[in-house]
Amino acid sequence: PEAITVQELANRMAEKGADLVKALFNMGMMVTVNQTIDQDTAELLVEDFGHRIQRVSESDVDIDTADDVDPEETLKDRAPVVTIMGHVDHGKTSLLDALRGTDVVRGESGGITQHIGAYQITTKNKQKLTFLDTPGHEAFTQMRARGANVTDIVILVVAADDGIMPQTIEAINHTKAAGVPMIVAINKCDKPEANPKKIRERLLEHEVIVEEMSGDVQDVEVSAKAGTGLDDLIDKIMLQAELLELKARPDRAAEGTVIEAQLDKGRGPVASVLITRGTLKRGDVFVVGTQSGKVRAMIDDKGKQVKEAGPSSPVEVLGLGGVPNAGDQLTVVENEQRAREVSEYRSEKAHSQRTAATPANFDAMFSNLK
Ligand code: GDP
Ligand code: MG
Repeated sequence: PEAITVQELANRMAEKGADLVKALFNMGMMVTVNQTIDQDTAELLVEDFGHRIQRVSESDVDIDTADDVDPEETLKDRAPVVTIMGHVDHGKTSLLDALRGTDVVRGESGGITQHIGAYQITTKNKQKLTFLDTPGHEAFTQMRARGANVTDIVILVVAADDGIMPQTIEAINHTKAAGVPMIVAINKCDKPEANPKKIRERLLEHEVIVEEMSGDVQDVEVSAKAGTGLDDLIDKIMLQAELLELKARPDRAAEGTVIEAQLDKGRGPVASVLITRGTLKRGDVFVVGTQSGKVRAMIDDKGKQVKEAGPSSPVEVLGLGGVPNAGDQLTVVENEQRAREVSEYRSEKAHSQRTAATPANFDAMFSNLK
């Protein structure tokens, strides 16, 4: 907010840009409408035109959703969002593929699955589950670092023919730190050398006490390769989800979290978004991080165009002004002017935070010399 273009100031004052240029000329300044002026000059101009200076508070120019709590009676059950973590080669990708294969909807439509960072399956019992298909703790911690806790349940994959490895331990620690419940999937149980009992015992050393060891962490023996234990795993996820009472209000302006985003050659900026509450519809105007946009099209994980997406659905969104970051929040707003205002405010803020970092560093440098 240190500088503003003459035109932007004119817009905010509901005056003509040319009139401001004239007034500035009378003050001894030669500027065009597209040039910027500093805050002091802007204030002089505002007063010159007989307007009052109004300092806006952050809540006027940004979105504050923290106080915007949905009433209990508007909440509906939503699908759990599940992340698979574990050591490299223990079978995360294989398990994600195997679980995807159990989707009854996909089987019917025969659609081509596409990678959008997350997918949803419908079970035989018509229950829905959402999996983040960027497995590993990287996506998980990256999201959390950005204040986005999208995961409800973690599946810890441990290969029964291997053991507790460094990334297994890392995954355990991240999951505990996030306070997210864990289900242990002991994978590769089809192998003759598989020893699930040993895995359960070894987990004790990391304070993961599975049910068979009289603890409260659910565990299940699976084989992603042979497809065994998958129904059992799904049942356990649903049981855990029930305990969590996962709910969200579907009939409201949508909010979501960016799972991944990139610039697509043909389609422009695209973002995979996991809807957290409300329903995102085609034509909705939104802010996402420092970007704004309008939903031009939405594509689900089966490659199908959809008109709307509700809580816990992953969807690819087209119609963004730029590429947002993973973990950014998407919020639907009233109109394009509001979207622009918020995204501009956030961009300016991000910019001034970047530049403001310098003086502090200088201070630190000089204090070292003293
Ligand atoms: P990730 O690194 O954790 O994603 O592991 P992958 O899914 O890429 O699997 C690593 C290797 O283990 C691959 O060669 C898989 O074919 C194999 N694998 C995965 N699951 C199983 C399983 O249940 N049984 C057997 N025998 N091999 C498996
Ligand atoms: Mg993998």
